[in-house]
Amino acid sequence: MQGERTDLPNTRRERFWKNVEIKGEEECWNWKHITHVGNRYPTCAGGEVHRMVYKYTKGPIPKYNKDGRKIVVRHLCGNKICCNPNHLVLGTQSENNIDRYKIDGAKKLTNEQVLHVKNLRAQGQTYAKIAKLYNTSNVLIRNVCIGKGTYGGIV
Ligand SMILES: [Zn+2]
Repeated sequence: MQGERTDLPNTRRERFWKNVEIKGEEECWNWKHITHVGNRYPTCAGGEVHRMVYKYTKGPIPKYNKDGRKIVVRHLCGNKICCNPNHLVLGTQSENNIDRYKIDGAKKLTNEQVLHVKNLRAQGQTYAKIAKLYNTSNVLIRNVCIGKGTYGGIV
């Protein structure tokens, strides 16, 4: 999918999607206005960006599941700034923690992400900062930068 979305008549939504780097269905759609590099989710006027994506594309987010556990919107890709609705699912915090563990252990990066990581590194970013941006380990980022190990990318 390229360019502007045309299926969202609401101007607030249109403005929202202008802040998203919309790409192919499988790729991460990064939020363009990152004001920090860290462990928090980016926010916009409506709240946390990934939750807004979920509401805009899939509907309301229930507060609790049938077991009374709090429901969160999870990133399947582990990229906190990603706004691709295909990468977002509902789950619980504990599932989220399991995901994070899995991602850290064997994260797959797209070629584009690998290039992005290398660019950031070339610009002088530390491994730690890049790792936080991608919600992964310093080791993985280092491996990407020096072209070592299996991180999914082939660039
Ligand atoms: Zn993603």
